Amino acid sequence: MRLLLVEDDDMIAETVLGAMRRAGYAIDWAEDGRAAELSLGNGVYDLVLLDLGLPKKDGIDVLNAYRKSGGAAPVIILTARDAVDERIRGLDAGADDYLIKPFDLDELAARIRALLRRRTGQKQPVYAHGELTLDPAAHEVTKAGELLPLVPREFALLQALIEEPTRVFTKAELEEKLYGWGEEVGSNTIEVHVHSLRRKIGADQVVTVRGVGYRLKRC
Ligand code: CA
Repeated sequence: MRLLLVEDDDMIAETVLGAMRRAGYAIDWAEDGRAAELSLGNGVYDLVLLDLGLPKKDGIDVLNAYRKSGGAAPVIILTARDAVDERIRGLDAGADDYLIKPFDLDELAARIRALLRRRTGQKQPVYAHGELTLDPAAHEVTKAGELLPLVPREFALLQALIEEPTRVFTKAELEEKLYGWGEEVGSNTIEVHVHSLRRKIGADQVVTVRGVGYRLKRC
C-alpha cells in the first residue's frame, strides 16, 4: 500500500511519515504543489494525504488537475483552514474526506483504512480469503483461526494480494506497493518476501504465474 503525503510543514510531515511507516505503509513525501503534481503523475499511489495551503501551487489546484487528468486514488485533505467554504471547495474538487489540523494520528489511520476498503469495494473491516483473514486495523493475519506472526513487509504483500484476490500482480507492481522513494529494492526482493510469506501462510497460498507474477490461490 503506497501513500503520498503532500505537506509543507516539516514537523507535521515527519510525524505523519513515521506513523504511517510504523503502520506498514510505504509513503512518499512531496513538500510543495509542484512536487505533488510530479509525483501524482506516475500513478502509483493508493491514497493521497493533501495539505491545502502549499508553496508553488495551491492544494485545491493540485487536486483539480489530478482529477481532470483521470487520477482516481482517494484523497484526504489535511488542513488548518477550518472554514466551511474551504472544506466544501476541497470536497467539490474531488476530495473523499478531510481532517482539520491538529488531527489525531489514530483517526487519520482509521480514515485511511476506511477509504482503502471503499476503493476495493470491501465493506467488512477484515479481509477474508479461504482460510486466511487479514485485519488492517489490528495488523493481524490468521489462518484457520490461528494467529500468524508476519513482519510488516510480509503483511503489506499479503494485503496487496488479498485486496484483489483474482488479480495477478507483477513484481514491479508489488515493489511499487511495498517501497517508497529512496528505499533500496534488490532485484530479488519480492521473491524473498514471497518466499518468507509462503513459509508462514502455506506454500500453496501464493501462486506463481510463470512469466507474469503472483496471485492468491483460488478458493
Ligand atoms: Ca501548509
